[in-house]
Amino acid sequence: METEDTMLDRWVWKLHSSQRYSVKSAYSFITATDITHNERVNCFMLPTKDNLHKRGVIDTTQLSCATTCGKVEDNDHLFFQCDVYDCLWLLISKWLGFESVFHGTIGFHSYQFCGLGGVSKCYRIAFTIIWISVLYIIWKDRNKRIFTSGVDTLETMAEKVKSQAYWWLKSCYV
Ligand SMILES: [Zn+2]
Repeated sequence: METEDTMLDRWVWKLHSSQRYSVKSAYSFITATDITHNERVNCFMLPTKDNLHKRGVIDTTQLSCATTCGKVEDNDHLFFQCDVYDCLWLLISKWLGFESVFHGTIGFHSYQFCGLGGVSKCYRIAFTIIWISVLYIIWKDRNKRIFTSGVDTLETMAEKVKSQAYWWLKSCYV
């Protein structure tokens, strides 16, 4: 996904000629064997605060991470380095039966986490969907903190990740 520089920004899904998101197009891309993890994660370019700053939408006083951890919000910080959301990764990895310290950058994190599924293609797909579900819930929580001032507990977020992953897996396999 990326935004186009037009009069009004809009989201474009790059994985289908219609430029509209569908579960099938996402699934095909996620499960393709000939793409790298970096290519996979580059599809999820988001309007994080550093990206908005680069585009002149916000100034340097507005760059702080939504969790109020005191750091600047960029993709790697928000999803893989923030102490707040790091606890969510820990909860989810424990739920999956692993305890691991994950890399702090998107490409290595994706490779490491999705690799926990081993060599089985089914497991690899499932772990990839769970990985994307965590990103999705972090992004929703970040937006909730910014736009509605609400804060979910980590346990609530973990349950949302499981529920989201379940529905995405169900839509792929049923
Ligand atoms: Zn943070």
